[in-house]
Amino acid sequence: MKKFFQYLLLIVLFSLWGIMLTNRDQTRETVQEVRMVAQRKLGIDQPCSKPLEYAIGNIDPKFGIAQSEFTQLVAQAAEVWNKADGKTLLAYNPAASFKINLVYDNRQEQSNASVQLEQNLQSLEATNNSLTQQYNSLSVDYRKKIDTYNKDVADYKNDLDKYNAEVSYWNSQGGASSDVYNKLKKEKSALDDEYGKIKQEGVVVNTLANQANGVTKKENQVAANYNNSLSTYKSQYGDAQEFEKGVFDGQEINIYQFKAVADLRLTLVHELGHYLGMQHVQNSKSIMYYLIGDQDMNNLMLTAEDNHELNKICKLN
Ligand SMILES: [Zn+2]
Repeated sequence: MKKFFQYLLLIVLFSLWGIMLTNRDQTRETVQEVRMVAQRKLGIDQPCSKPLEYAIGNIDPKFGIAQSEFTQLVAQAAEVWNKADGKTLLAYNPAASFKINLVYDNRQEQSNASVQLEQNLQSLEATNNSLTQQYNSLSVDYRKKIDTYNKDVADYKNDLDKYNAEVSYWNSQGGASSDVYNKLKKEKSALDDEYGKIKQEGVVVNTLANQANGVTKKENQVAANYNNSLSTYKSQYGDAQEFEKGVFDGQEINIYQFKAVADLRLTLVHELGHYLGMQHVQNSKSIMYYLIGDQDMNNLMLTAEDNHELNKICKLN
């Protein structure tokens, strides 16, 4: 461009038209110059025209993540941007001066505590489900047994009444023959057996009832524990979290906090977006939204707002 205008300037050396063109060209250059300075401050040379390079810096071993795994995650995060524009915007170079670090402090300590609490909640929920199953199975068993028990008790009462009526009758007759006496003796013995059986059934029914009540008591304890843990969790970690989990400061990206691979990856994509020069956007599902929470962590994709912002940056050049 410059050469062309210089050539033009030679031809129309002293014409006003020529001077105007030259001025316009100079203005454009100046604007570009200013923009270049601003981009250098952000650590960006020429967005989208050639890859911005990054390296992996310090990884605090307290995070319990291997260098290779972290490097792979950063590559996946970079790929979200590379895919969006169809060209390599971000490239890994171990010698790059721009570093991505995992910095351990009280934020991750807190995060670990919240993961612990989540696991605790899950385990309480599992315990509660298992107790509910136990209760249901006991209560089915109990209902069957108590029906039989009640029926047997009614039968026994009936037989006993009949027997007592017979005995009173024969007593009122002044006694019974030995045949009748033996028959009544047999009846009495059968009644005793019946009573013994009912007594045993009663023990089984009571045991089942006690077991079911014990399970209910445990369930109530677990539920109280769960509600307690849940309200602690909600008060401490319930709301969407700001991206202070990671910080891009123009020189490097520091990641301070993550719960799992999924939110670490999202944080990396977000901070790499800042490295590319992206600002925050307004859609809560966007990668570049200032909060983490609404994004689909298992399928990280740029939203229309993210893409719009990226296009704006890439057109700067
Ligand atoms: Zn941000």
